[in-house]
Amino acid sequence: MNQNLWTQLCGIVKEENVQTEEMMKNHTTFRIGGPAEYFVTPHTVEEIKQVILLCKKEHVPYFVLGNGSNLLVGDLGIRGVVIQIFKNFNEIVLEKEGIIRVQAGALLSKIAGFARKHELTGFEFAAGIPGTVGGAVMMNAGAYGGEMKDVIVKASVLDQNGNVFFLSNEELELSYRKSIVGRKGYLVLEVWIALKKGEKEEIEEKMEDLKERRISKQPLDRPSAGSTFKRPEGYFAGKLIMDAGLKGFTVGGAQVSEKHCGFVINTGEATAKDVTNLIKEIQCVVKEKFGILLEPEVKRIGDFGEEEKTEAK
Ligand SMILES: Cc1cc2nc3c(=O)[nH]c(=O)nc-3n(C[C@H](O)[C@H](O)[C@H](O)COP(=O)(O)OP(=O)(O)OC[C@H]3O[C@@H](n4cnc5c(N)ncnc54)[C@H](O)[C@@H]3O)c2cc1C
Repeated sequence: MNQNLWTQLCGIVKEENVQTEEMMKNHTTFRIGGPAEYFVTPHTVEEIKQVILLCKKEHVPYFVLGNGSNLLVGDLGIRGVVIQIFKNFNEIVLEKEGIIRVQAGALLSKIAGFARKHELTGFEFAAGIPGTVGGAVMMNAGAYGGEMKDVIVKASVLDQNGNVFFLSNEELELSYRKSIVGRKGYLVLEVWIALKKGEKEEIEEKMEDLKERRISKQPLDRPSAGSTFKRPEGYFAGKLIMDAGLKGFTVGGAQVSEKHCGFVINTGEATAKDVTNLIKEIQCVVKEKFGILLEPEVKRIGDFGEEEKTEAK
């Protein structure tokens, strides 16, 4: 451990908000991932900004984590600083009629609940996506015909030099599972969401219906990171994988879900290496059978051992 860095981090956030060698498997829905060298959970914009400026000054890589629901973290963990924007930074406020302002760590399910309480419609699609709004802007998360792009007015972001500024919906360049946030390495701070006045019962009914659809189709009782692959143009990844005969195919503790072939699940003791090898095998078989290369939606972060190393941002 770099005592100097630890001391400096503790000068920015409270000591209890700086962990060392924190297992990432405790912070990912896959329940996979080795230790983060430093794991910091800031409370304010100023703290977030100072942590990033410190990393830059000390030439230490950092990675921004939300709820870890779209990540595969390497078994050897993440070197540098993981900045978790989640429970300490998750305020949800009704700013004016129809506009909700949220801090990046707020869960989409909580925002959906807040919208329902205030009889606002348009956010029902996101209620079952288990991420933070920061991660959802980064990914332009979407489901059942809705996506973040439909509801965002603007977001405030922090760049790698510590500047805070606003980006409008258009400036966020939201497209299928992409935004400018990833391309430029921005950190999402706050998001303004516009919704319409609705009927409480109708909102509840829609949420309930979508929830039932998820429960009946997805392996929600097993650790995963959601859809493993992006939807290839004109196809469904899950159907291609099923038609390739890979339903239930297993590598170590990683398995193609029998309930939904688009999900790789952790059957208990899966390692990042198991998941990586399973993903490669799926890609190989699907390419061979149908000539389509499946592109992972799940993001690989950290150190996977051997030469399989991905850099933290
Ligand atoms: C069971 C299950 C179902 C799912 N269903 C869906 C679905 O229907 N639709 C869908 O789109 N996704 C789905 N997902 C995937 C996932 O929930 C979304 O991608 C979600 O938006 C990720 O948010 P997160 O907070 O967990 O981000 P993380 O997984 O923590 O991070 C994802 C990426 O976002 C970045 N990031 C996180 N927070 C910030 C921030 N504040 N600023 C900048 N970058 C940030 C990270 O650096 C990383 O690159 C599902 C996942 C699971 C496990």
